[in-house]
Amino acid sequence: MTAPDLPLVARGKVREVYDAGDDRLLMVASDRISAYDAVLPTPIPDKGRVLTALSAWWFEQLTPELERFGASHHLLSTTDVPPSVAGRGMLVRRLEMLPVECVARGYLAGSGTAEYRRTGRIVDVPLPAGLVEGSRLPTPVFTPSTKADVGEHDEPIGFERVVEMVGAARADALRALTLELYREAAELAEAAGIVLADTKFEFGVDASGGLVLADEVLTPDSSRFWPADTWSPGGPQPSYDKQFVRDWLTSSGWDRVSPPPELPDDVVAATRERYVTAYETLTGRAFT
Ligand code: ATP
Ligand code: MG
Repeated sequence: MTAPDLPLVARGKVREVYDAGDDRLLMVASDRISAYDAVLPTPIPDKGRVLTALSAWWFEQLTPELERFGASHHLLSTTDVPPSVAGRGMLVRRLEMLPVECVARGYLAGSGTAEYRRTGRIVDVPLPAGLVEGSRLPTPVFTPSTKADVGEHDEPIGFERVVEMVGAARADALRALTLELYREAAELAEAAGIVLADTKFEFGVDASGGLVLADEVLTPDSSRFWPADTWSPGGPQPSYDKQFVRDWLTSSGWDRVSPPPELPDDVVAATRERYVTAYETLTGRAFT
């Protein structure tokens, strides 16, 4: 895959960000896939295009909710991009990003489960007794974290830390908007037979001080999607997209420390199929 002829601003595990001039960025999703915090050596064909189309679809769906809050999103175009990244690129407004990962959880999963077992809460958010991994929470909760530097893990923080970082009014707005966007997205996903267990949003601020939904949104890389028909609290839930990969990696005997192995063709094909199906199921559109 050739890179666009623009200055590279950042390179993450699966995306590259370029300076597109005029206060715009070009965010490019690759076909790389990560599992257990490692980037695998085998790409998944079309993954970058699927995730870009999905993110763009969500920005469109969430526009009314954003407007109700006097907020907006950063996406300018998915078509006005260099040919070498056609379908995988998003031209966005360059923003001053807020240093908070805005996590919303509607179900108990991942790091939330471990913390709940220890303390009965997630940082400063108390939860009722008797929940198990995979349980639906009585009401969705806002559990922010810091944006970690490269190679480090995000650190969960309490609401007071968010207030210290961005001020009380903006912290309140971030929490309210995050939960509203989660509710709307979870409802849309549920109607399509998919559980949106949790997700992470990032926000920036534009020149006039307005909140802007940025980064990628509601992709399998920033969210947990579970098939609703196999949802069964009491243990880890099969994830919509990466379960084949994770199961195969486990069965391959990989130690999660040494460089990960190449994926066999059938695992690649099955994983690609899952991404495409997730896109088509959520959006009701054919992936072309
Ligand atoms: P990881 O691979 O773990 O996600 P990463 O977050 O550093 O690592 P990317 O997600 O590819 O890698 O990087 C995208 C970067 O661009 C993030 O730092 C994100 O906060 C930032 N970003 C997203 N949207 C905008 C925007 N509109 N303006 C400025 N920066 C943005
Ligand atoms: Mg990121």
